[in-house]
Amino acid sequence: VRISDVLKNKSTGVTTVDPSATVQDLVALLAERNIGAVIVSSDGRTPAGMVSERDVVRQLNRQEGQLLGRTVGEIMTAEVVVCSPEEKVESVLQLMTERRFRHVPVMDEAKLVGIVSIGDLVKSQIDQLRLERDQLTNYISGYA
Ligand code: AMP
Repeated sequence: VRISDVLKNKSTGVTTVDPSATVQDLVALLAERNIGAVIVSSDGRTPAGMVSERDVVRQLNRQEGQLLGRTVGEIMTAEVVVCSPEEKVESVLQLMTERRFRHVPVMDEAKLVGIVSIGDLVKSQIDQLRLERDQLTNYISGYA
């Protein structure tokens, strides 16, 4: 199963946030859309960073005050790890586990085509394993 198969089951269009947006705007976006991370981009096409609820929590711990008024650009992770639509779900899951993040933007050549979360990939993997198990069960019981 490939990343492109997972994207097919998701609504199209990728949410991005401008680096100059405030943390206040960011938390509103995360809450309204019920998501955990957003791609930071000033043109909606080229990722400049990733920002997630984890970055907000990390900054809260620094207790420097006025966090809500700071910009997304100040708290984001600037080095974004991306994947391609052709990549296997299994290998992107492994990447997320090793690097300890739960979101990966999907780039087709230079074009941003989506984002996948660890939840999307775990669901896809379980569906696939269930399908294979049912086929094997049917085969063994002679119904194949
Ligand atoms: P997450 O698990 O997605 O909430 O993110 C955990 C940390 O990794 C946060 O500091 C994010 O900014 C960062 N992060 C999330 N996704 C990526 C990614 N694809 N590439 C680089 N950093 C990321």
